[in-house]
Amino acid sequence: MSDTPQHQASGQESPLPEALRITSPSPLVDIGANLTHDSFERDLEATLARAADANVTTLVVTGADLEGATRAARLATQFPSLHATAGLHPHHASEWCPELEQAMRELHRQKSVVAVGECGLDFHRNFSSPADQERALEAQLALAAESGLPLFLHERDAGRRMREILGEWRDRLSDAVVHCFTGDRETLHGYLDLDLHIGQTGWLSDERRGHHLREFVADIPAERLMVETDCPYLLPRNLPAKIKGRRHEPALLPWIVRELAHWRGESEAELAHQTTLTAKRFFRLNEDAGK
Ligand SMILES: [Zn+2]
Repeated sequence: MSDTPQHQASGQESPLPEALRITSPSPLVDIGANLTHDSFERDLEATLARAADANVTTLVVTGADLEGATRAARLATQFPSLHATAGLHPHHASEWCPELEQAMRELHRQKSVVAVGECGLDFHRNFSSPADQERALEAQLALAAESGLPLFLHERDAGRRMREILGEWRDRLSDAVVHCFTGDRETLHGYLDLDLHIGQTGWLSDERRGHHLREFVADIPAERLMVETDCPYLLPRNLPAKIKGRRHEPALLPWIVRELAHWRGESEAELAHQTTLTAKRFFRLNEDAGK
């Protein structure tokens, strides 16, 4: 088929039509890629090759439960462009127990693991009770304080409680990013006042629920902003072409950067350059040091 040529690196058919093969003018770091998701099992190497073609050169693979974090850490030892986080997502918070805590602590000692998380609060769906979510979050804040690693935080409809808890812990933590920030202006400024970093996905392209972000996304100082796909979730809703299977992937990060740059009133190249500097500093990614 003419619109889905074979990908050179893999021999597999690329799911990305020509209009979605966008190359960033400057190398990018995708700070939130769920590459242990089943949907990537079949074509992970081809996915990474497409990311490299798009100039997405470094990826942080999200580890959101013990199995996922273990797999993320393993992938990060196999592929030089990958790093991993290790934590328990608030959806799974009721699973937190001393054995899990010890297993996470051991993962945090691995060189390929660069952050504690994904952890946090999600009162949108409450798959675990708020009390269990707070207990698991505080235990992971303690692990971050102990290891000195930065935090990869998830928050949905829980901004007030998150700010209260982080306010109590802030002095003991190194750095923290609220990934996929989707809250309001007041919550954003509350996080910035706590000296936190902010992750942005393609959410602001979502006409149903994300357009409010466009009004204040420029409030985030450049040195506190990082970008992410959160793939395979959150496929941007305003892409210029359709993707077979509707799976989001790291090669589409340049599109998110382009959108974000537009609403921040800055150039795509400058935003790409600055978010990469910030991400490398935040996750302490020194390319010469190895893993
Ligand atoms: Zn999340």
